[in-house]
Amino acid sequence: MISPEQVLKEKFGYDSFRHEQQAIIANVLKGSDSFVLMPTGGGKSLCYQIPALIFGGVTVVVSPLIALMKDQVDALRVNGIPAAFVNSTQDAGEQREVIDALKNNSLKLLYVSPERLFSNDGHFLNFLKKCEISLFAIDEAHCISQWGHDFRPEYRQLALLKQHFPKTPVIALTATADRQTREDILDKLNLDNPSIFVSSFNRENLFYAVEKKAEMFRKMTDYLEDHRDDSGIIYCLSRDGTESLAAKLFKKGFKAKAYHAGLDQQTRQQHQEEFLRDDIRIIVATVAFGMGINKSNVRFVIHADMPKNIEGYYQETGRAGRDGLPSDALLFYSPGDVIKLRGFATVENNFAQTEIMLAKLNKMASFCEIRTCRRKFLLNYFGEEAPVNCGNCDTCVNDYEKIDATIPAQKLLSAVFRLQGRFGANYVVDFLKGSDSEKIRAEHKLLKTYGAGAELSKNQWMDYLRDLVALGYLQQTDDKFPLLKLTEMSGPVLKGEEQVWLVKASEQKEEKKYAAKTELPYEKELFDLLKSLRKQLADDDKVPPYVIFSDATLVEMASYFPLTIDEMRKISGVGEMKLERYGGNFLKEIQQYCIDNQLSSKIHQKTVGRQPRSSAPKEKLPDTKFISLDLFKRGKSITEIAALRNFSTNTIEGHLAHYVATGEIPLEAIVERSKVPAIEDAIQRYGNNALKPLKDALGDEFSYGEIKAVIAWMERNL
Ligand code: ADP
Ligand code: ZN
Repeated sequence: MISPEQVLKEKFGYDSFRHEQQAIIANVLKGSDSFVLMPTGGGKSLCYQIPALIFGGVTVVVSPLIALMKDQVDALRVNGIPAAFVNSTQDAGEQREVIDALKNNSLKLLYVSPERLFSNDGHFLNFLKKCEISLFAIDEAHCISQWGHDFRPEYRQLALLKQHFPKTPVIALTATADRQTREDILDKLNLDNPSIFVSSFNRENLFYAVEKKAEMFRKMTDYLEDHRDDSGIIYCLSRDGTESLAAKLFKKGFKAKAYHAGLDQQTRQQHQEEFLRDDIRIIVATVAFGMGINKSNVRFVIHADMPKNIEGYYQETGRAGRDGLPSDALLFYSPGDVIKLRGFATVENNFAQTEIMLAKLNKMASFCEIRTCRRKFLLNYFGEEAPVNCGNCDTCVNDYEKIDATIPAQKLLSAVFRLQGRFGANYVVDFLKGSDSEKIRAEHKLLKTYGAGAELSKNQWMDYLRDLVALGYLQQTDDKFPLLKLTEMSGPVLKGEEQVWLVKASEQKEEKKYAAKTELPYEKELFDLLKSLRKQLADDDKVPPYVIFSDATLVEMASYFPLTIDEMRKISGVGEMKLERYGGNFLKEIQQYCIDNQLSSKIHQKTVGRQPRSSAPKEKLPDTKFISLDLFKRGKSITEIAALRNFSTNTIEGHLAHYVATGEIPLEAIVERSKVPAIEDAIQRYGNNALKPLKDALGDEFSYGEIKAVIAWMERNL
């Protein structure tokens, strides 16, 4: 018998199981019932898809949203897995085809809605009894419970399933259920001594943030501007809200469209399709959108209105970052929303349920108002322990708490003292951090203070340094390259006679930063090329792009540069079927890119058997600057290097300027001696913060590269 690991690698192209997938699959293969609670994006589907491929018969997947079945089936077929769905959107002919396939036992997975399963007085059910059914998978199982937040009456009939198929194993899966709902699901489904698998709810790649609702549109468009290449979902409470926001965004030039249950079927379908296929970037939707959405490259979810409860919030934000790459969850909050939502929380003639809904609403409001870690709040809500500070939510990264900073202050002041007030902020901090850059003079590397501040990041030191200047413990000269000097306030601090309290320096700048810009060391340019290739192939095959390869898979390609079929096989997410179908196209693109940029494969750095995120190479990619330096040292001129590398001479000058700063090449190699004074003069007048004004002042005879080189040279000779 083929093993689950083999199926995982050959069919899906993944190296290892996540969470409890392995244990769950083993339990299912044993023929036992299972209950699986795993966050969105955790990988629930494989828990029944892999057994489905190992079992002899067909696995029936019950799923509530017929609109999305096609998508799931497409994704399976691209991996070469025979799958189909039956629902009311198909005509008689299409349904017949599926029925025939079932009769021939030629399907591995069948997706069906609960109403279809129990339709025609159990006609379909009776038909299924004659087929070889290996397993029932109940997706979104919380829909069966009235205690849940998304009760669906048609799910109630599933209580009968075990009576009809007492011997067939059942696996129930959900991404959200509090304890009460959990018990209710088990009770309603009549599972037979089920094994229960609860995974952590922590979605570590999601950055949670709450913003005040005032000036929402401006804040939102600022964010969207910053994330031009990303796609995401914006949730609104009302249908009108989605339409007016989508229209406003569209006017501003964002490719956004609305989605809600009030739109006619065709429009709704079309908008969804456009979003899935990356034809539009933003979908502005009510909660009607998204359940079961498999699009894995959703980089952000924005709530323009507060959701009704934590479950909904968690599930909606969970649609971001299913591929495991950093993504943002941003909520705009106003207390007015809470009052509005109270009106909706009332369930007519059902006092008990109204109480539950109101309590859930209040919890949601608390989430927005806390000043402690939001992730901890969420995890605790779902009954999980969590550390006090997650480092990846707005309250954790924007920590304005004041602390006793006497020691870091002393370190900074003594660094300035040791350097005799003859260096600027950058140098002082690099020196303090013990940078091994050649910029730091050899004699300074012998001083005791050198490297005494390795415990903080450069940004953190810069924050402290700015504060110390602002408070008068240090002063900065007015020179063109300002130098740091001690003041009469410095002495008592250095002698330990005075304490210094500063705002605790955090990794982030005051301006709120969101996570979605991934810092993985991949070649962005290649990634973009691969993305457009993917889009083209997807359009040809009439499937959404992420069905071909996820963003995470493309990031791996753009990090490791696989250059042969065998190397391509090592990329996570490249199964045999996809390798055969798409491998060649992607290889060609990567090969060309590597030739153009003189890069070689780094596949040997990929450790098989770990998750893509953690196995991404930590060290830097071969530096493009370094290639220029290498050619330069081998006697090539700037123009020759530019031609060889297919870059502008400007770019090459920029590369070489870097090595002027480190002293590896003399300034004269880039700039004619006679041009230097004019550039120096301009820098003196306009400063060196921006190149544009310098270039404007100097005119066409001077290139950006030359200006950069002189700046580098002046910095070195400081
Ligand atoms: P869920 O249904 O729990 O929301 P999915 O089953 O859709 O999540 O899985 C989310 C994404 O993670 C999919 O792109 C899936 O292919 C991928 N995935 C699942 N399991 C693994 C694994 N073991 N290794 C790598 N990727 C995985
Ligand atoms: Zn946090």
